[in-house]
Amino acid sequence: MRLAEAIRFRTVSLVEETDERAPFVEFHAWLQQRYPAFHAAARREMISELSLLYTWEGSDPGQPPIILLAHQDVVPVPDDTRENWQVDPFAGIIRDDAIWGRGAIDDKGSLVALMEAAEFLAAQGRRPVRTIIFAFGHDEEIGGDEGAVVMAQALAQRGVRAWFVLDEGMAALDQHPLTGGPASMIGISERGGGNLRIHAVGQPGHSSMPPNETAVSLVAEAVDRIHSMPIEQRLEGGPALGMMRALAPELSFTNRMAVANEWLFAPLLRARMADNAAARALLGTTIAPTVIEGGSRPNVLPGEADAWINFRIHPRDSGADLLRRAREEVADLEGVTLEWDGTPRDATPISSTTSSSYGLIAALSSAILPDAPVAPGLVLAGTDSRHYSEVAENVYRFQPILLTSADLEMPHGLNERLSIENFERMIRFYIGLMEAGAMQ
Ligand SMILES: [Zn+2]
Repeated sequence: MRLAEAIRFRTVSLVEETDERAPFVEFHAWLQQRYPAFHAAARREMISELSLLYTWEGSDPGQPPIILLAHQDVVPVPDDTRENWQVDPFAGIIRDDAIWGRGAIDDKGSLVALMEAAEFLAAQGRRPVRTIIFAFGHDEEIGGDEGAVVMAQALAQRGVRAWFVLDEGMAALDQHPLTGGPASMIGISERGGGNLRIHAVGQPGHSSMPPNETAVSLVAEAVDRIHSMPIEQRLEGGPALGMMRALAPELSFTNRMAVANEWLFAPLLRARMADNAAARALLGTTIAPTVIEGGSRPNVLPGEADAWINFRIHPRDSGADLLRRAREEVADLEGVTLEWDGTPRDATPISSTTSSSYGLIAALSSAILPDAPVAPGLVLAGTDSRHYSEVAENVYRFQPILLTSADLEMPHGLNERLSIENFERMIRFYIGLMEAGAMQ
């Protein structure tokens, strides 16, 4: 099984200068050897030494290309979690009708399935009419700065404007939280994020005769106000409403009524969804105070105190606007200043759910998972695809696999594995995508 072999290359994201690059180089050689027809048909470029950019030229240069993404790197398996794995995470073991190991789902499953599909077609002498570009980054798990960022820039400089981009990020769930039944979720936007730093200065000294406010009381007050500042929680202005509409036929009668008459039932829906952390993340920006620092002794006033608040930014908000609003909340707190720690990342633009490319992905999903209605969703984590907004108007995030809620813990977690059934679904889906999308 090819995916099992691919897992044996320890392509852990390179964090330190001294980290092992050899597994990536060996993985590249393995790809060349295992997928000869594809490698003969496509042009391979190395970007930032370890990222792979393949161009499978179409016969009609007038048609905008398809860009298919996957990443080579995997997150490490921390030593203290190793004993909780039932198998060696880098041995590539097949057991219980599944391929086990780090990267099986995230994201070597996608990469190898894409190669299997392309090899299958290339070996038959098939050639695309529309160009297909494969971009396999080597640093997705640490931000994609050398991989996806540079590859997307290179494509933009060449004037590439793709029909669409497809990456990982969402999949089909066997139990969607809203309906309790299966649903194929296609990510049409990705949340942004940033860390807001609160800095407070106070008068240092002994605490026997304190001023009204201390650095610690100021920072605490600021955290509290920003944490509870009003944030819009709505179905509109993001993927939530589209998701509800797409799943409406599966909903209970009351929920269905509510979606159909959103103007009337919006407060009810909002209230119901606001009770649920996952639903809240879908409806609006989330605010999580995470770090607070200041002072060292109980009877000494510190000169300064700091706090950090982690924001996950919904498509309707922006980092600049959130900073402005947070500053308004604390404008009267003298000695308090706010800044983003680093540059916050806004959510990606929202891709269309009425485009021909969304229709193609949805139709193929229905073909391999006929019981799962297709719905758009908001990707809560980060993927390489966020760097491709300049190259395509429509960027979708979907792995054609059916996951249980337990499976969702696997990427970055313990006992990551992909069922052989899911691996075959992916290959069938990608063959269909290349044939229907690029070969006619
Ligand atoms: Zn990934």
